[in-house]
Amino acid sequence: MTRLTWVVYGKLLTEQHSIMTLSSTLKRDGVDVSLIYANTQKEIMKKLRELRPDIVAYSLMFGSHRRYIPVSREIRRAFPSLVQVAGGPYTTYFPQSIDELSLDAICIGDGDVTLSRYVKSRKENPAAHIDGFHIRGGGSIKKTPVGNLLDDLDTLPFPDREIFYDQDTLLKNQEFKSFLSGRGCPFLCNYCFNHKFNEMHKGKGNIIRKKPVDYFIEEISEVKGRYGLQYIIFEDDVLTIKKDWFYEFAGKFKKKIGVPYICYTRPNLVNREMMGLLKESGCHIVRMAIETGNEEVRTKVLNRAMTNDQIIRAADIIHDAGLKLSVSNMIGLPTETLENSYETLDLNIRCRAEHPSAQFFMPYPGMELTNIAVKTGYFDPARLSELEKNTWKTSPLKFDKETKARMEKLQKVFALVVRFPSMKRFLPVFFRVPSVILYYLSMFVKIYIVVGYLPPAKVSLAQRTRVLFRFFSFYG
Ligand code: SF4
Repeated sequence: MTRLTWVVYGKLLTEQHSIMTLSSTLKRDGVDVSLIYANTQKEIMKKLRELRPDIVAYSLMFGSHRRYIPVSREIRRAFPSLVQVAGGPYTTYFPQSIDELSLDAICIGDGDVTLSRYVKSRKENPAAHIDGFHIRGGGSIKKTPVGNLLDDLDTLPFPDREIFYDQDTLLKNQEFKSFLSGRGCPFLCNYCFNHKFNEMHKGKGNIIRKKPVDYFIEEISEVKGRYGLQYIIFEDDVLTIKKDWFYEFAGKFKKKIGVPYICYTRPNLVNREMMGLLKESGCHIVRMAIETGNEEVRTKVLNRAMTNDQIIRAADIIHDAGLKLSVSNMIGLPTETLENSYETLDLNIRCRAEHPSAQFFMPYPGMELTNIAVKTGYFDPARLSELEKNTWKTSPLKFDKETKARMEKLQKVFALVVRFPSMKRFLPVFFRVPSVILYYLSMFVKIYIVVGYLPPAKVSLAQRTRVLFRFFSFYG
């Protein structure tokens, strides 16, 4: 039996769906799957020596990929013939990663079916054609185009949560669990990978795919029965994207699961009927993106054609339905002025967001907005490999010194001012405080807001303390 080991470097704040989904499929297909889940490179190497797998696998995100570069290179040096394969957004949109991380193969797009095929082909038929893979061999790299999108998500086994929970009691005992009801988003926001994903998969099947309602309810029931659930976070880009699906789901969810939940929507999809249904089925918080308070930047730069009035109306409808509102924003967009950043702040105040957050835009490869940032001179593509996973500290874009300093400080006190608008008059004072102090202030404000807005849950003091430590080591 082939032995494959996932490597996850650094403890997580929530489960990683890609690994859970792929792990269960690999196990079903007869692969012996394990996980090295460690905080240091030394620990990873030690566990690798003990496990001696046939294949090491990574699921790489932009930013956090950087810590895997020295790991994969050290593995290559220590075990030259050990096969290393990676997938995820980083390899999909930055295929040069195959050399950067000294990998044997990378997966492009979804790996649901193809990763298993790749693993099997290693023993059975190394020359087999596998869709959406770049495979190193014989001095060159064989590249194949992406295959068809998997439509029947119920042909997949339920995600393998135990792969994390067996090693991480913090995640196992967390009062909430996160779920994905499907895949895909039809919108084309310039700062999102979906734009590129949809383009790559043109003619390859349906972009929007949902798990059948009964299958998904069974998946949630199983987790609820095994681990207990005080509330759920649905990680789907837009949970209600398929109206008929959601109507069926909402009724069954309330009857059979009956716990509060948090989900994402989009301002242009908010209406009284849908928000009423969300509330009725147990929704506690709706998350949506405003991103910028300036309509021109939103429409022309972000490709999100919606007006401020539309956004304000959506926020009012959400509140009228008795739901809380979580809003995400970006500071430091290409062409953004300090005036625009203030407009973002003001729009969030007007929307009365209970949980506002503002992060810096990161120009990752594969996003249209990165091309715009390069073309307009806001970003030097030579700095791509320096991009951080932490989007809360600083902007990698070029602004004049004074504007950048103010944007960075405004971002740090953004949530505080939105929640307590009277603090706005203290902005000139905040601008004189060192960034590092404001950074830690922003972390405490974030915790204060998050604890206050989440659905009520019974959590022990010990668990809360552990989550706090994990949070600070993740963002510290
Ligand atoms: S709506 Fe959200 S998930 Fe969909 S393309 Fe825009 S940013 Fe991406």
